[in-house]
Amino acid sequence: MRTPAGTECPYYYEDFHRGRSHQECRLIASTPGGGTYSPDLCARCRIPRIVLANACPNMVLEARVVSGLLGLRRRVEIAANCTRSGETVREPEIGCGQCHIDFPAMTTQEDD
Ligand code: SF4
Repeated sequence: MRTPAGTECPYYYEDFHRGRSHQECRLIASTPGGGTYSPDLCARCRIPRIVLANACPNMVLEARVVSGLLGLRRRVEIAANCTRSGETVREPEIGCGQCHIDFPAMTTQEDD
């Protein structure tokens, strides 16, 4: 679904039918301690770019709302983990590389 920022995000949901006014981020809502979603958070959120770049089924994403000084400048902090390697994925757009080992065709000759 298209977010208020104009990006496609699989975690965004809204319902404005028949007088309703409901907007939510299902990723923030499903993350323990995720915080409270507000539509302005989508503008600077990395998740739409991450899911576009990396569709790995083993990567689990979490999103938490964090604030700067005095509770201002709220933003979404991302965490990614691989269920296969059990490790933190440092660059979610790329992945941890564990799956690339199983598919050598996905690596270059120099990697062998
Ligand atoms: S905050 Fe990020 S993950 Fe949540 S709906 Fe907006 S763009 Fe998607």
